[in-house]
Amino acid sequence: MKVGFVGLGIMGSAMAANLLKAGFSVSVWNRSVDKCAPLVELGATVAASPRAAAESSDIVIAMMATPAAVQSVRDGSEGIVAGLSAGKGYLDMSTVDGETSVKSAMLAHEKGALFLEAPVAGSRKPAEDATLVIMAAGDRVLYDSSLPLLEKMGRKILFLGETGNAARMKLANNLVMCGMLTALSEGIALAAGSGLDSAQFLEVLDSGAVSNPMFRMKGALIAANTEFPVAFPLKHMQKDLRLALQLAEEVGQPLFATATINELYKTALAQGLGDEDFAAVSRVIRK
Ligand code: NAP
Repeated sequence: MKVGFVGLGIMGSAMAANLLKAGFSVSVWNRSVDKCAPLVELGATVAASPRAAAESSDIVIAMMATPAAVQSVRDGSEGIVAGLSAGKGYLDMSTVDGETSVKSAMLAHEKGALFLEAPVAGSRKPAEDATLVIMAAGDRVLYDSSLPLLEKMGRKILFLGETGNAARMKLANNLVMCGMLTALSEGIALAAGSGLDSAQFLEVLDSGAVSNPMFRMKGALIAANTEFPVAFPLKHMQKDLRLALQLAEEVGQPLFATATINELYKTALAQGLGDEDFAAVSRVIRK
């Protein structure tokens, strides 16, 4: 199976590398061309445009930052849709809103192609280790034919029904993760501010019902207030909060904590922390 891969950021680079290591023929495209080089070393060819990546492949995958970035590689004479034709598949793994996915599906269908949205849970390391959780929705036939690819990128793969469901699932998931990280940061700040030992605070958390891998991964870094290796850029987490609040507005569901946490993330962005890992939001909380 020939694969096109568009969007070689933190996640896309690692995911495309796993497809190459698994023996798939992969043609890559990225706005900043330099990010193609490590994949070329693994055997990828470089496509001249997102359109060329789609034209030269059976399934073209996109892993873009935002809905606007999805549109910029999807639309226009050099976009992915221009390179689609009957029998091809378009797989968008970016975290976007359901509306963006529905539009992508409509454009793919107009060309006789199939569409699947497949956002992921898991960060840089799970992308490298091919242990992502993949939430897929859209054309079931494309899901079935994509499974050999998805299985090389993720450890748990779910099919969630109609297009838009996976985008909505991903946003609900990230809202929880973001709330947990915020609570962890506040807990660490309160413990330290009241003279408690941070390591013991983390040990207490890890021994009880709220023990979880993310606290183990980020807790000590937040407590030490050191450099945070960038796994999930803070600006993308704020995008996800914004999209979750937009979805909540659409369905009439109040999100009391998320609305406040979004203000915290907007403050972090205004303080220039957007390109840092989302754990850097703890710097806004810490006195
Ligand atoms: P990233 O490192 O910032 O990479 C973003 C990609 O989008 C890059 O290829 C970038 O190209 C491209 N891009 C951005 N704006 C563009 C535009 N206007 N036109 C064309 N290309 C554009 O992001 P990432 O961490 O890989 O995340 C990718 C997606 O996965 C996001 O939707 C994110 O929310 C989601 N996600 C991320 C994580 C994580 O932990 N990192 C986990 C789960 C889901 P350049 O290289 O040229 O900038």
